[in-house]
Amino acid sequence: MIQSLPLPENIVGVLSFDFDGTLYDQESDPVTEPEFFEMMRLLRDVGWVWGINTGRSQMQTTSGFVESKFPFLPDFLIAREREIYTPGKFGRWVSVKEWNGRSEKDHKKMFRKSKKAIKEIQAYVENNTKAQWISEEGDPAGVIATSIEEMAEILTVVDPHCEKSTVMGYLRNTIYMRISHKDYHKGSSLAEIARRCGVEKDDVFAIGDGHNDLDMLDRKVADMIACPANADIDVKQHVIANGGYVCKLPASKGVIEALHRFFE
Ligand SMILES: [Mg+2]
Repeated sequence: MIQSLPLPENIVGVLSFDFDGTLYDQESDPVTEPEFFEMMRLLRDVGWVWGINTGRSQMQTTSGFVESKFPFLPDFLIAREREIYTPGKFGRWVSVKEWNGRSEKDHKKMFRKSKKAIKEIQAYVENNTKAQWISEEGDPAGVIATSIEEMAEILTVVDPHCEKSTVMGYLRNTIYMRISHKDYHKGSSLAEIARRCGVEKDDVFAIGDGHNDLDMLDRKVADMIACPANADIDVKQHVIANGGYVCKLPASKGVIEALHRFFE
């Protein structure tokens, strides 16, 4: 069981890390550089809290922590880009009910309101592509495409629907896409964490490699932004255009590089 650490008494800032492709790299051994955790220890000592901001579910993330050999739990977890958890006793995660409850309610309303649009998207995906339509509890509208190109094609059908809607949006990561409420994503979830910690955006750091990270790599949410060398080209361009740091090294080696750059 991985233990949590007591929160720093005086929180001065928030660090937000994407998981897959950023902190965790399946291809490398170890999947996460141990030096990263030493840096977290040092930064925590001076009041910085850190957390994982991921598209994975809470369960999937927890197994990732074991695989990555986390010596202690992060101070917060954002799962499915929108569910906020804090560490409880015995390595369990406690749902931040106020936020998660509101998100769930808003999603239900959005899915009801967007039924017609979602039906049209589903029909397009099923009749015109080789992509798989995924419908599951709480997430009734998702797509797994067979290629990045196919995903781009599908998005040309999804985008106009989202532009018309005040509530319907989507989260996308490579060949995966999920219809989601426009107000809930890695950026708004991270802003909520910062608000709860009493921290301004100037003292928020975020790093990620994929499309679903663009919402938190937003200078209105995090003033310090970075991406690892393996980031998607769109993410790299965004980070450069917004005065962030593109690492020379990939995944967790890149994370360490970025932390040195911002916190030396
Ligand atoms: Mg990623």
